[in-house]
Amino acid sequence: MLLTKLEESLIQRKNNFEFRDHSVQGKNYLSFATNDYLGLANHPAVVSACENALKKYGVGSSSAYLIAGYTKAHQELEEALANFLGFKATLVFSCGYMANLGVVSSLFSKHDVIFADKLSHASLIDGAIASKANFKRYPHCDVNSLNNLCELDQQSNGNKLIITEGVFGMDGTVAPLKEISAISKRNNAMLLVDDTHGIGILGHEGQGSLKACNLESNCADILTSSFGKAFGTYGAFVASSHVIIESLKQFARTYLYTTAIPPAIASATLASLNIIQTENWRRQKLLELVQYFRLCANQLGIPLTSSQTAIQPIILGSSEKALRVSQYLQERGLVVKAIRPPTVPFASARIRISLTVQHQKHHIDYLMENLVHAINSA
Ligand SMILES: *Cc1c(COP(=O)(O)O)cnc(C)c1O
Repeated sequence: MLLTKLEESLIQRKNNFEFRDHSVQGKNYLSFATNDYLGLANHPAVVSACENALKKYGVGSSSAYLIAGYTKAHQELEEALANFLGFKATLVFSCGYMANLGVVSSLFSKHDVIFADKLSHASLIDGAIASKANFKRYPHCDVNSLNNLCELDQQSNGNKLIITEGVFGMDGTVAPLKEISAISKRNNAMLLVDDTHGIGILGHEGQGSLKACNLESNCADILTSSFGKAFGTYGAFVASSHVIIESLKQFARTYLYTTAIPPAIASATLASLNIIQTENWRRQKLLELVQYFRLCANQLGIPLTSSQTAIQPIILGSSEKALRVSQYLQERGLVVKAIRPPTVPFASARIRISLTVQHQKHHIDYLMENLVHAINSA
C-alpha cells in the first residue's frame, strides 16, 4: 500500500529525480548517503579512462604489488599524487582501511607513543592497537588535552605520533590542524592526517584540509586518503618521505600480502584526480548546497551541528529514533542512513546526510519537507 503510494509520488516527481539511481529493493531512491561528494563515480571521463585501461590491462591485476601486480597505471597515479600534494613519494594501497592499518602498525612499535583523536576512523585505531605502542586518545579536536598528553610524555625516548582525520567522516568537523601541527612540532611528534573526506573537497585545487587551514599538505609527515570517497573510485594512497614510503613497501603487511588494485581502477583514479584539480566549480557547488541545506534546516528548526562540510549529521540521541527517522524517509523515497554506536559514541546516534554535486536545491527541499515530519513524529 505504502509502496504503491510511493511509486505514484515518485512518478509525479520524475523530473525532479533525474539523479543517480540507487537500486534498493528494486526501486529508485534519492540518496543522501553516498560519499561520492564530487559526483565522479559515474563521470564520463572517469568511466572511459577505466574502460580504456580495462581493454589494455584486463580486469584483475593478477598479483600482489611487489610480485607482478604493479603497473605503469599505478606508477602514473602515484607520481601525479606526489606532484599534486607536494610530497616526495606516495604509495597506492588496496583500500583506506589497509593503508591506515599498514602504516600505523608497521612504522610504530611498543617503544613508541601514539596520540589519536577519539573519533578517528576504526582503521587508525586498529593500526595503533596492532602496533603495540602506548596508545592515548584525546577528546575530539581538543587541542588542550592533546597538548597536555604530549607534554606529560617528555621522558619517553621512543617515537611519537599524533593521528587525526582532516575532516571527520561521521561528524564533518575540520580538525584544528594549525594547532595540532604546532603541537606536533613543539613536542617532536610526527603527524599523520587521514584526509579521506578533505582531499578533493577542501582547498583551492582540492588539496584538502591542510591547505584549507593555510598549511602545506606536506606539513603532515604522513598523509593518507581513500579513493572511495571524493575520487569516486576504489583504493587508497599514503604520501610521505622516500624513506617512509620505502619502508612501507618492505614492512607493511597490508601492502605486501594483498592483490594490487586493478590497473583500470588506478587509471580511473588518475582521471578523477585531473577533474579534482581542474574543476573548481564542483567544490563551489558543493559549498553552495551545504549553505542552502543549513539555511533551510535553520528555518525549519532542524538541529544542526557546526559542520560546514558536505557531511551534515543530525544527532538524535537514541538508536531507535535514528532508525525511525531513516525508515520514515525511506518510505518517502529518500536514502538517509542511521549511524549508531559503536560507529559513533554512545547516545549520539544520528542520521548522516551527505551532500554531493549531483544534488539540486529541490532535492534538498524535498528532503527538508520530509525531515521535519520524520523528526517530529519519531
Ligand atoms: C572510508 C574511510 C577509510 C577507509 O577507506 P576504504 O577505502 O573504504 O577502506 C579510512 N579513513 C576514513 C576517514 C574513511 O572515511
